[in-house]
Amino acid sequence: MAYTLQSPASSLATKLPSNLSSLSQLALNFWWSWIPEGIAIFRDIDASAWEQCQHNPVQFLSSVSSEKLAQLASQLTYIQRLESVAAKFNSYMQSPHSAWAKQTAPDITPQRPVAYFSVEFGLHQTLQIYAGGLGILAGDHLKSASDLGLPIVAIGLLYRQGYFQQQLNNSGWQEETYPEQDLETLPLELVRESNGKPLKIEIELGDRACKIQAWRVWVGRANLYLLDTQLEENRHSDRQITNRLYQADNNVRIAQEMVLGIGGVRLLQRLGLDPKIYHLNESNAAFTLLEVAHQLGKQLGKSFEQVKTTVQQRCVFTTHTPVMAGHQTFPVDLMSEYFANYWQHLGLIKEQFLQLGALEQEAGKFSMTALALRLSKAANGVSQLNGEVNQQMWAQLYPLEIEPAPIAAITNGVHAPTWTAPLMSQLYAKYLDENWTRRESDRLLWEKVDEIPNAEIWQCHQQLKQDLIAHVRTWVKQTRLRRGEDRELVEQSECLLDPNALTIGIARRFSSYKRGDLIFRDPQRALQILSDSAKPVQIIFAGKAHPADDKSKHIIQHLIEWTRRPELQQRIVFLEDYNMLIAKKLVQGVDLWVNTPQRPQEASGTSGQKVCFNGGINCSILDGWWREAYQQRADGKGVNGWAIGEDCSLDDPEAQAQKDVEALYYLLAEEIVPLFYELDTQKLPYRWIEMMKASIKTVAPMFNTDRMVSEYVNQMYVSTANNAAPV
Ligand SMILES: *Cc1c(COP(=O)(O)O)cnc(C)c1O
Repeated sequence: MAYTLQSPASSLATKLPSNLSSLSQLALNFWWSWIPEGIAIFRDIDASAWEQCQHNPVQFLSSVSSEKLAQLASQLTYIQRLESVAAKFNSYMQSPHSAWAKQTAPDITPQRPVAYFSVEFGLHQTLQIYAGGLGILAGDHLKSASDLGLPIVAIGLLYRQGYFQQQLNNSGWQEETYPEQDLETLPLELVRESNGKPLKIEIELGDRACKIQAWRVWVGRANLYLLDTQLEENRHSDRQITNRLYQADNNVRIAQEMVLGIGGVRLLQRLGLDPKIYHLNESNAAFTLLEVAHQLGKQLGKSFEQVKTTVQQRCVFTTHTPVMAGHQTFPVDLMSEYFANYWQHLGLIKEQFLQLGALEQEAGKFSMTALALRLSKAANGVSQLNGEVNQQMWAQLYPLEIEPAPIAAITNGVHAPTWTAPLMSQLYAKYLDENWTRRESDRLLWEKVDEIPNAEIWQCHQQLKQDLIAHVRTWVKQTRLRRGEDRELVEQSECLLDPNALTIGIARRFSSYKRGDLIFRDPQRALQILSDSAKPVQIIFAGKAHPADDKSKHIIQHLIEWTRRPELQQRIVFLEDYNMLIAKKLVQGVDLWVNTPQRPQEASGTSGQKVCFNGGINCSILDGWWREAYQQRADGKGVNGWAIGEDCSLDDPEAQAQKDVEALYYLLAEEIVPLFYELDTQKLPYRWIEMMKASIKTVAPMFNTDRMVSEYVNQMYVSTANNAAPV
């Protein structure tokens, strides 16, 4: 099927002088965002305007004056730099299918790619279609697949209003606003038919039809298609389906997931793609499986039972949630309403259809995870512990002789080029390998971190920390101005935090299992540690709570009370509206990352991994990825960071929290703070630096998405074993 694309940002091309035209080409592919020269080529035009538009190159270029552009066009050094970035980009784009991919996964080709389905994608702060770790994982997966030259196409939803914007009111209570994203300033191309008309597909939501259009986003060599129901011909309520991420209303959720799963498969077919593998990132993408079955049945003229094995062979499923209550279900009445015409397409009767999502203990519900497990050849959790917990949780679906349940574990990683600060990346280029990002999983490469002189790595880290603090001061000032706080308080923002103090980062989605305020559980102890004037400790917090989660909003409010204590005013800050930009600055600038989830609920966690690539150190509960990464010496002391508590958990959450916080206070007071402030004759914290290096060397080669995507290829995509599907 022929189709063409047009860009809403194509006006850029006409605005730019001809020798700058490759800027518009770069602006329309997120590749620039993970290449240091790509970032610099925009930023160096006007650094403060670049900051003001949150590093959005489309918006930025439209705002630069024609005089400035004309001036730039006559600067030889700039033009040469631009040509060199453009050449690098073109050469990257020319080889979408690598020799490695051809050899490792010969059946996966550009016509038969991997199709990756997810309700959220975290690619860049300017495209607000993510809420947290699940989305960042999807974005990093795509970027690494592109870097590795693995043919992949992704399907998501274009949330016109994103997740939400967080503002805290004067009493520290979270309030949500939902501004519309300005699509004109985003690198989106509406997918069109060859006649220029927008390409539209249709699905049935119960007894009504719903039209869907699609936007294409370039992520390096990979395409992400974002589905969108904001169309005149749809009923008013159906236009809102793709408005917001994670709404509480089940009617919206089920419709969104039908748009994603059923609409996504139909779109790929219209685009002439026949995916070899469908990869579902979490069960809210599981309706994909039904539509794969539907299309196969139609093509082959076969019944659901006859195509079931083929569906399983093509589908793999990644599960995240380690608690039963977190797994999504829909009431069967709702399923019956929305799928009223659909089971016939599959050649099933209603009871057979509902059976696909049936779980013994969830009578009257349709379990999306049960559906996903039943129709996939392979499933995995996102860390070893998460895999084991899921094996136990889902054993009920498998015959008794299959024990343990065949749910594998592939531990999450991060896309190193995205999360590593350009300054740090330069250091790796100088001492490790100029092309270090192509050898991320090579342990020998990372051994060379020892060759970086202490003074140089420390100076780099200090610079990143100062950059973080400068950003924090600006952000906090803006917030205080908005809230109409006292002038004095507004001005005080400019001297918040001390660049020489031990700086802790605590940022995440606020959800009660993450226990974001655990560090304040014993106010006396916390105060003692934080208010030591000889060895100061400061904390930067950030994170959103789900709009319907009052418990977590109370946690945030509790943190805000702490930021207002007079004795700690310069030492504790909370940054509003956590996003990928704040996350980047934080993970690149803090000394220590503290994560205190309630075991085993942190499926993996990835923030701490981002910190390691930048020389920060972790102090966390032995849950998720950290349980695999943490290394201990014979005397029980940490080699590459600190473990809070032990590799086991109590049944009583209160007792557990008390035990954990005591362990945390002990580590801070007895080990972490003294280590940070122990200086050598050059005034360098030499033992801290030693641990920074150990952290990089042990974490970087393992917890990156290049390693992770290779494992998905080998263990999930090419494996022929039909090993996970329950009967
Ligand atoms: C990395 C990242 C996360 C993931 O957080 P974890 O607590 O490690 O799961 C969430 N939000 C943003 C913005 C991130 O960059």
